[in-house]
Amino acid sequence: MKPFAYLRAGSVEEAVRAAAGQPGARFLAGGTNLVDLMKQGAETPRTLIDIGRLPLDRIEELPGGGLRVGALVRNADLAAAPAVRDRYPVLSQALLAGASGQLRNAATTGGNLLQRTRCTYFQDTSKPCNKRDPGTGCPAIEGHHRELAVLGHSDHCVATQPSDFAVALAALDATVHLRGPEGERTVPAADFHRLPGDTPERDTELRLGELLTAVDLPPPVPGTRSRYRKARDRASYAFALASVAAVLGVRDGTVEHAALAFGGLAHRPWRARAAEDVLRGAPATKDTFARAADAELAAARPLRDNGFKVPLARALAVGVLADLAARG
Ligand SMILES: Cc1cc2nc3c(=O)[nH]c(=O)nc-3n(C[C@H](O)[C@H](O)[C@H](O)COP(=O)(O)OP(=O)(O)OC[C@H]3O[C@@H](n4cnc5c(N)ncnc54)[C@H](O)[C@@H]3O)c2cc1C
Ligand code: SF4
Repeated sequence: MKPFAYLRAGSVEEAVRAAAGQPGARFLAGGTNLVDLMKQGAETPRTLIDIGRLPLDRIEELPGGGLRVGALVRNADLAAAPAVRDRYPVLSQALLAGASGQLRNAATTGGNLLQRTRCTYFQDTSKPCNKRDPGTGCPAIEGHHRELAVLGHSDHCVATQPSDFAVALAALDATVHLRGPEGERTVPAADFHRLPGDTPERDTELRLGELLTAVDLPPPVPGTRSRYRKARDRASYAFALASVAAVLGVRDGTVEHAALAFGGLAHRPWRARAAEDVLRGAPATKDTFARAADAELAAARPLRDNGFKVPLARALAVGVLADLAARG
């Protein structure tokens, strides 16, 4: 590990001030991703700004039935919160599908959304990687890429976004709150993560020195149910090969509301707008669900060894939608 300066921030303002104009600064939350990457040499911050004691650890009710989740709410606490389990089952299920009980006790809302890709080359500093060292190349394109992207990738990076939580937030139309040297702003969760294009070193829309302070969940759409399903190589401690977060409302056999997002397929949670267009107003049947999944996945461009992800994602989407429809 390289030497670094350590600062414990006493307030949000102090944290933002310390990070302003400092490309070498990183916020430290639960540390479950950042510290590992520092030990591997994949992250070499000059300054660590510990935000662990900031008052951002509350879940608050919003007028109208939504929730505000502070950036330091632990993944385990959020998954277990009665308001989340009752109103946003997809969110609770996505969190519980990620990592392990011990990790979820330490991992935070902000850190989960900002965790880095699990592409093996990114973590291996003996290899080139455009995301870690811009301009050095992407060995994954011709190398090991079984777990990597089939949608939205570029010639510069084919990594996937690893967070299960982020996929559920995209389907729920959540909003991310950011505080930076220029003040506060919000970004829709579905637009927070980026496609790699020719700047894969930027995972998200977060600007230099900005702190993620909270995530807002809008009130659940009346008459809808939600679910998260994830396919992985083993039952625990494994990132998604493919996953789906779905919110579905059906009345008299017709789809009234549909929101769908895929995980494990792209550099960002993949909000499935083409699928949603097929679903809305259509009969809630397996045939409709299959047509919807096909409409979205038509854009897939699998790499040599990850073509299996397309039928896997299709099966997950059809299965989850059918389950939700069968429950009324
Ligand atoms: C063995 C293992 C298995 C895992 N499996 C899964 C899985 O299946 N699914 C899944 O989703 N995750 C999984 N994870 C990842 C885990 O969820 C993340 O490590 C965790 O959520 C990161 O949260 P943290 O608070 O520890 O972040 P940190 O490690 O503290 O930070 C992560 C990044 O976010 C930045 N950051 C943190 N908070 C803020 C903030 N408020 N504002 C701005 N920047 C911030 C940090 O600077 C850093 O770059 C796994 C991790 C491990 C080690
Ligand atoms: S896929 Fe992205 S993260 Fe992986 S080696 Fe290529 S540039 Fe690096």
